[in-house]
Amino acid sequence: MPAQHPVPSYLQADNLGPWGNYLQQVDRVIPYLGHLARWAETLKRPKRALIVDVPIQLDNGTVAHFEGYRVQHNTSRGPGKGGVRFHQDVTLSEVMALSAWMSIKNAAVNVPYGGAKGGIRVDPKKLSLGELERMTRRYTSEIGIIIGPTKDIPAPDVNTNEQIMAWMMDTYSMNEGATATGVVTGKPVDLGGSLGRRDATGRGVFTVGVEAARHLGMDVSTARIAVQGFGNVGGVAARLFTETGAKVVAVQDHGGTVYRDSGLDVTALLAHVAKAGTVAGFTQADVLPNAAFWEVDCDILIPAALEQQITVDNAGRIKAKLIIEGANGPTTPAADDILQERGILVLPDVIANAGGVTVSYFEWVQDFSSFFWGEDEINARLVRIMKEAFAAVWQVSQDHKVTLRTATFIVACKRILHARELRGLYP
Ligand code: GLU
Repeated sequence: MPAQHPVPSYLQADNLGPWGNYLQQVDRVIPYLGHLARWAETLKRPKRALIVDVPIQLDNGTVAHFEGYRVQHNTSRGPGKGGVRFHQDVTLSEVMALSAWMSIKNAAVNVPYGGAKGGIRVDPKKLSLGELERMTRRYTSEIGIIIGPTKDIPAPDVNTNEQIMAWMMDTYSMNEGATATGVVTGKPVDLGGSLGRRDATGRGVFTVGVEAARHLGMDVSTARIAVQGFGNVGGVAARLFTETGAKVVAVQDHGGTVYRDSGLDVTALLAHVAKAGTVAGFTQADVLPNAAFWEVDCDILIPAALEQQITVDNAGRIKAKLIIEGANGPTTPAADDILQERGILVLPDVIANAGGVTVSYFEWVQDFSSFFWGEDEINARLVRIMKEAFAAVWQVSQDHKVTLRTATFIVACKRILHARELRGLYP
């Protein structure tokens, strides 16, 4: 048999970054795949990875070049699907890992998609609105050869929003010569977007978080909660938890950490962040050093920012009994082991934050049929899908005595590889 190289030559073998974490997660599931293990190598390499140069004219007349990516990890179950991230630290390894987690996530909640992700290595806060639009449009044109409503459907992720989706939809449509609302999700509601999409990820985090707490015998309405990241995911989840009576005691973001033992006023904090762009400077709270965030006395911890936040350095100090991963990839495999030994339940990203893509699926379906649903119907369908997916994963974790992450990977990888097997190899 010819040698197989699990590490592609285009990544650094000794520094695989988030892709390395994903590979370790896949290895943990292979013993549970039965005859489908024959296809497991499929999961260990992306189907297609496109690297593009994104040149734009800056406001000062000079030309700047940015590195852009679109990776389609798997399309066995349907078109690629996953967000686009604008961040100064974006790398190919990161986008590969994020695209793979999308494959797992989409299969875990059983929406008919493969997994994909995109990104541009840029700090968008340093661009003017015009520069941001030109960069978004050029990037969309460059990846236009592989995206499309039935090929690969981008959506918002870190630092991208409804306006950016509107520009992407418009650019793709202009190039095609026809309006194609279904090419991206997370669009403005007035442009084929879906009601409920903006809050969907946070609502999903809350929904499955409540289910997990119930299994732990934890009363959410009296829980103390710490949240990292106060954007579209962390901010919404915090609001929904406080509506039950829970107290959000600590919030950390890129600007700093705020704390209030008796519970932060989440409504006031959301209003502050809407104006200031960060929790820093919020006066109705104490300031904590960033490292102290991980030791805060709390029942539930919600990492809802970036990858690789919970590591061997802080996993031993976390006081929470339940961690709900709003972010993608916030816990390293080594930290996962520490948390498991310490009896801390981790509700993994690939199920916890799947609410966003679930309502993206509803948006795509509504766009195709040009028939739009009411918000109550959308939220009810979202809650049903999330609860059913959680129940299935919980059962698998009990049956095999594995973590919820491995259980979610078992459910998802079986679905992906079963589709792979049915389709077969062509040509
Ligand atoms: N970026 C979100 C995620 O990581 C949403 C993806 C989508 O809606 O396609 O799940």
